Amino acid sequence: MQNILDAIQSGNATSEDFASLELPESYRAAFVKKDEVDMFEGVPSKDKDPRKSIHVDEVPLPELGPGEAFVAVMASAINYNTVWTSIFEPVSTFGFLERYGRNSELTKRHDLPYHVVGSDLSGVVLAVGAGVTKWKPGDRVVAHCLSVELEGPDGHNDTMLDTEQRIWGFETNFGGLADVAMVKANQLMPKPEHLTWEEAASPGLVNCTAYRQLVSKNGGDMKQGDNVLIWGASGGLGGFATQYALNGGATPVCVVSNEEKAQIARSMGAELIINRSEEGYKFWNDEGTEQDPREWKRFGARIRELTGGEDIDIVFEHPGRETFGASVFVTRKGGTITTCASTTGFMHEYDNRYLWMNLKRIISSHFANYRESWEANRLIAKGKIHPTLSKTYSLDEVGQASLDVHQNAHQGKVGVLCLAPEEGLGVLDEEMRARHESAINRFRGV
Ligand code: NAP
Repeated sequence: MQNILDAIQSGNATSEDFASLELPESYRAAFVKKDEVDMFEGVPSKDKDPRKSIHVDEVPLPELGPGEAFVAVMASAINYNTVWTSIFEPVSTFGFLERYGRNSELTKRHDLPYHVVGSDLSGVVLAVGAGVTKWKPGDRVVAHCLSVELEGPDGHNDTMLDTEQRIWGFETNFGGLADVAMVKANQLMPKPEHLTWEEAASPGLVNCTAYRQLVSKNGGDMKQGDNVLIWGASGGLGGFATQYALNGGATPVCVVSNEEKAQIARSMGAELIINRSEEGYKFWNDEGTEQDPREWKRFGARIRELTGGEDIDIVFEHPGRETFGASVFVTRKGGTITTCASTTGFMHEYDNRYLWMNLKRIISSHFANYRESWEANRLIAKGKIHPTLSKTYSLDEVGQASLDVHQNAHQGKVGVLCLAPEEGLGVLDEEMRARHESAINRFRGV
């Protein structure tokens, strides 16, 4: 891989130079193994340790198919989906790979005894498959994680609705936590050039998801003046939802679990903050079988105290079972709860009387289509939305990085250096960097 890294670092290699580089037969990657999916049987979820299940080793380079691209990965990031894959919950991701593998000769490549994980990257295109004209070797890129086939009619209004829609590096193989990744060319987007490799890699999945869930007409369709309740406001998704609310003239009401996280939300410009640990909300009884509406009311009263008596227009939901009843309760008449996840449990319970009598709507959201992803990346490239990278690990430490996210011991995003030999490399637009440096550092909690 040294020849590839040298070409990237030289700064003057042409597209022809990149195209003439010899591709490696194998590359370093972080993966889980099919023969280990039962390794945590009987272990409580919180004790399942990604350091035991994620391996970093050489794997063979697959064959490149039509419409695809190999990218030399300079940096990647940890997403919660890598935590799910590494603890084999709620299901082992090998089932996704097997199903995908049954589609065609080409998709069969994904069905392997190992799953290379990771749904974010920044890097340089090494090679493109037949039919790719928009991208060429040497292009500096980031990748969004929507993989679609689009052979049927269903996805042609909104590619998220394609019947063959998958999340790259989670429901497909050859993900971004590696020195080389294989993506579809229509996942590629230009790298924001005022950012380092690790900063540029970190917003991807969560930034695009937050954009659709809160801003897009397919999600919350947020407008100026909306009160937006954001759970985990300094976490992966929440750090971007907070920025979108502030940018769009809405008022974020940020829920966090400690003062350090509250400080990050404040440094982004949020003023209304609820520290859920300090407030000690107990929405469920100890057995987790019944909710306490008095606690929903106490939470709602605190929101009104902060907003000057107003309720929430849009709830940005993802914790799921633990918070969903409260989320439905505190939404104003006619308001919206947008949900993209169920981290604390997917069997949600809420009092439907509060929903139907008050004409509230629950809107499901999942990742983002290419257009939405492009918009979200464009906002990063224009310096209107900033990365929230708090810590960066090496590829060999992906297990530890995933454990941090699993244990909620992180803030914002956790980055991973792949081919990049150190942090701080990859900035081409120094002038724009200088203009945004202080915001970038503030949002990183530096
Ligand atoms: P993250 O970085 O871990 O952030 C989640 C935040 O939620 C945490 O920082 C935490 O903040 C808060 N939280 C955790 N437990 C909570 C609880 N019991 N009650 C209230 N808040 C709680 O993860 P993420 O990247 O934002 O992802 C969050 C979830 O969304 C994951 O399940 C992930 O798989 C899913 N997701 C789905 C999509 C999609 O496209 N459908 C995309 C991205 C992520 P505090 O401790 O400060 O409160």
